[in-house]
Amino acid sequence: CKEVLDSCRHEKLPSSDPQANALVARSGPPAIVEGIEGCIGNTPLFRIKSLSDETGCEILAKAEFLNGAGQSSKDRVALSMIELAEEEGILTPYSGDTIYEGTSGSTGISLASLARAKGYLAHICMPSDQAIEKSNLLLKLGAIVDRVPPAPIVEKENFVNRARALALAHTASSSISTEEGEVVLSERMLKGRGFFADQFENEANWRAHYGGSGPEIYAQCEGKIDAFVAGAGTGGTISGVARYLKPLLPNIAVVLADPQGSGLYNRVRYGVMFDLKEREGTRRRRQVDTIVEGIGINRVTANFEVGKELVDDAVRVTDAQALAMARWLVEKDGIFVGSSSAVNCFAAVKTAQKLGPGHRIVTMLSDSGSRHLSRFWAKAGDVGGAVDTKLTDVLNA
Ligand code: PMP
Repeated sequence: CKEVLDSCRHEKLPSSDPQANALVARSGPPAIVEGIEGCIGNTPLFRIKSLSDETGCEILAKAEFLNGAGQSSKDRVALSMIELAEEEGILTPYSGDTIYEGTSGSTGISLASLARAKGYLAHICMPSDQAIEKSNLLLKLGAIVDRVPPAPIVEKENFVNRARALALAHTASSSISTEEGEVVLSERMLKGRGFFADQFENEANWRAHYGGSGPEIYAQCEGKIDAFVAGAGTGGTISGVARYLKPLLPNIAVVLADPQGSGLYNRVRYGVMFDLKEREGTRRRRQVDTIVEGIGINRVTANFEVGKELVDDAVRVTDAQALAMARWLVEKDGIFVGSSSAVNCFAAVKTAQKLGPGHRIVTMLSDSGSRHLSRFWAKAGDVGGAVDTKLTDVLNA
């Protein structure tokens, strides 16, 4: 059978042998699934040709932008958080329940899409400095959107704190104040309860990767992986995948890809987050900002906590390096990714250089560049036609 299948693949369909055609069809496109939820997970893993050729390592990327609901890795997490809340009886489809979340955008988009699919309403709080296309998309998905001024987590008006407070207040009042003014809750919303999804602390987050991305990567690589590289926004991806892979592959290197301004790099390398803390008697350190969206944090969330001992190393990536890598991926491979994916790929190259040729490194392409046109890609500019960038230019950017 395998021989027939192989020869048929080479000859391309249709073959004159109907049995071979049937075999190819069966092992080809995935089966019919139930609803948009069925289009989440089982994403392709592909070799990034340019980076693999340049480093002598195999650099493999998980195409998470192909998740079907919100088109990012956050689809897995949103579905997992909703399903857990349903199991626990906190959410009931079509009862008027509203899902509240604080998010840089991707989790909100996944939640808003799945909320529609499963009979909920969504109210999303996000920092106002994130790319405008994300909040526009949320509105198209019928979510209520609160763009709040960026504020540290310790402040009441921080986007996460606001979402939590709104969820708590939901059942107690008939209106909610947003940036655009008072929103009077519809009759349908009033009937239901408010659910704070809480991606940073909700352990359904890392479990989605432990039960999904991790086993998928292991199977796709047939167990041969030398390093896994990922950024942390909530920590769910790196913790979930590391917790799945480390017991199976004790020698695997788990590497955090950290954008400038994040405290995690120092936490992993030196055990302290001295980027952020203004300790008594020390000179105040100004917090560095970044245009990278979705990753980089200055606290140990519950989802980072459960995997932090499994993270072996960290690579710090500047905005200039992320921009250069994003342009490189378009120029050399036609891959158009968002800012966090560019950070991941940069850190994957650094890891390849550290390990030396012949190793296999897996990383995540969390979302597409189309989510980042107005901010990250506006800075990156157009790639242009006749360019021939050298990888050293990217590394030294
Ligand atoms: N990339 C993007 C674009 C994201 O929105 C996020 C999540 N905030 C991540 C990467 C990081 O994933 P995690 O939350 O699992 O650490």
